[in-house]
Amino acid sequence: MVGSMRIGILALQGAFIEHENMLQHLGVETQQVRLSLHLKDLDGLIIPGGESTTIAKLAIDFGLFDDLKAFASGHPVWGTCAGAILLAKDDHSNPPSLDMMDIHIVRNAFGRQVDSFQADLQVAALAHLNGSNPTFPAVFIRAPIINTVGKKVEILAQIGFDKIVAARQGHLLATVFHPELTNDVRFHRYFLEMIPSK
Ligand code: GLN
Repeated sequence: MVGSMRIGILALQGAFIEHENMLQHLGVETQQVRLSLHLKDLDGLIIPGGESTTIAKLAIDFGLFDDLKAFASGHPVWGTCAGAILLAKDDHSNPPSLDMMDIHIVRNAFGRQVDSFQADLQVAALAHLNGSNPTFPAVFIRAPIINTVGKKVEILAQIGFDKIVAARQGHLLATVFHPELTNDVRFHRYFLEMIPSK
């Protein structure tokens, strides 16, 4: 039940307030996570967009990195944009990642900040949340793409012919765009549906 959930938002850098606002709008209790002790009693965690190198560095400096990895191995975690980079496989070309999802990511795949854009995606997994409408307005800001996924990964959305922009592996969700910057709450509701009921 949404009302009894507590969801953390990694609050080291980036768009964490926007995620917090959206979850609170949905009636969910939230916790900004800056230290390991903030992970206690959370039902799930969002790693926001921002700058993945900065978020990774701060997580290491704050002694949070290994605890985030431990949390993500047993709880639902959603990474948006820089957060998706942190959930991806650590291929040593990106900043140190949590190495949780079997996805490979290419950073800044759509160009520079000025090349940020909005696009309507067709996301079948969201259709049940809104009168069977699968169209989702996605905001891309210096976004990465997911260029390959492993066998256990479900592709949720693509742009163009083959650019993967949203994927799920069991309790882990990665979107390379920013649902928290729209008025559409369906991706947040989709993530809340991934939280096991108590
Ligand atoms: N380009 C950023 C990075 O590589 C991600 C941008 C974002 O989160 N909007 O970390």
